[in-house]
Amino acid sequence: MITFDLSCHAGHRFEGWFGSREEFDDQRSRGLLVCPVCGSPRVEKQPSAVAVHVARRAVPAAPPAAGEANKAPVAGSFFKALAEFVETHFEDVGERFADEARRIDRGEVDARNIRGTTTAQEEESLRDEGVEFLKIPLPKYDA
Ligand SMILES: [Zn+2]
Repeated sequence: MITFDLSCHAGHRFEGWFGSREEFDDQRSRGLLVCPVCGSPRVEKQPSAVAVHVARRAVPAAPPAAGEANKAPVAGSFFKALAEFVETHFEDVGERFADEARRIDRGEVDARNIRGTTTAQEEESLRDEGVEFLKIPLPKYDA
């Protein structure tokens, strides 16, 4: 079983349990997945961890929360602040993350900070190619 963090087009967030990723895709394409709050069938998967690539030539991204984290007793608040920082300042390239990170690394496109999702395979090939990236956990926000 795998769980996915899901959200509908109205922004309601909820969790779904599936036997596999294929089962999720199948249910979604057949319109069987609906938001438990509003019943919308327009449901998307939220990444539970976000991949982050910082371009070497882009503006250095020092999370302003880092200083606060030293004072904050709860580690969770640091990750929440970090996730918020990344959401605000990094371009969301979604599932194209691996390709974009690669192209930025090669200088084929403008250097910029991006975030997105990766598969385990993509992470492995990025590591093999020496493309640096980070995975950070995304906290669950209360709706
Ligand atoms: Zn909804």
